[in-house]
Amino acid sequence: MGKIWFIGAGPGDPDLITVKGRDLIATAGAILYAGSLVSQAAMRWAPAGCDIADSKSMSLAQIGDWLKTQAQRHATVVRLQTGDPSLYGALIEMVQPLDAAGIEVGVIPGVSSAMASAATAVETLTLPEVTQTVILTRVAGRTPMPPGESLVELARHRCTLCLFLSITLLDDIRAALQVAGWPDEAQVLVVHKASWPDEERILRGTLADIQDRCRAAGIASQAMILIGPTLGARGWPDLARSKLYDASFTHEFRRGVEPGTENDP
Ligand code: SAH
Repeated sequence: MGKIWFIGAGPGDPDLITVKGRDLIATAGAILYAGSLVSQAAMRWAPAGCDIADSKSMSLAQIGDWLKTQAQRHATVVRLQTGDPSLYGALIEMVQPLDAAGIEVGVIPGVSSAMASAATAVETLTLPEVTQTVILTRVAGRTPMPPGESLVELARHRCTLCLFLSITLLDDIRAALQVAGWPDEAQVLVVHKASWPDEERILRGTLADIQDRCRAAGIASQAMILIGPTLGARGWPDLARSKLYDASFTHEFRRGVEPGTENDP
């Protein structure tokens, strides 16, 4: 019986898969990928003769059956997931039937679209004395939010919010953030198809106008929404510096010096 690897393919650019993920794909006997987002990585690195299938039209039960059947034939079977497999990827629903069948499972992390979106826009999600916290969440759609996780409650922390699966709900997002006390001028970043060669689009706006901007740009799917107090920090003149690089801060790898002394850079 083979082992089934759930591999994070990254957000779109095939080069953003990890080396470990790529090496496993190169030895895979069979690969099941999740829609067009990750097909390129599968095609590019898979060995000749590899059995490659798209799970787009499969139910969860069919996915499980496909993986189980392939595990009886091949030592390495890959399930390629978008971004990181631990985020909104139905990982456990797929793993449980494999556990029940006694099939070994491994997971390789991937670059989440939240990280790829911050990267392409040259944004940091944390800044000293601004926010040190990031919330990865979504707005309730067909999947309801558990108690205590409404956007109003989460937004009260005033930290960075990365909103998945929510681009059609910008109205609700604005309303929730208003209730949580955010001003209409709060910065919002929307990245459509982050890291996709030639298809990525970056939109900047405010809570008040981002919906119109997205509508005008025709963006209604595959988009990450970042909202938070650090957005645009690249252009701030007076940035509180991270203590990690502060010359007076001693840590494991470097002894700090008193500010104003000879060795203070
Ligand atoms: N596991 C994935 C998330 C899957 S849920 C990850 O870690 O990124 C699907 C949602 O992820 C989409 O609705 C969108 O909000 C976001 N997403 C996935 N790929 C994206 C990309 N390339 N650019 C922007 N958002 C993306």
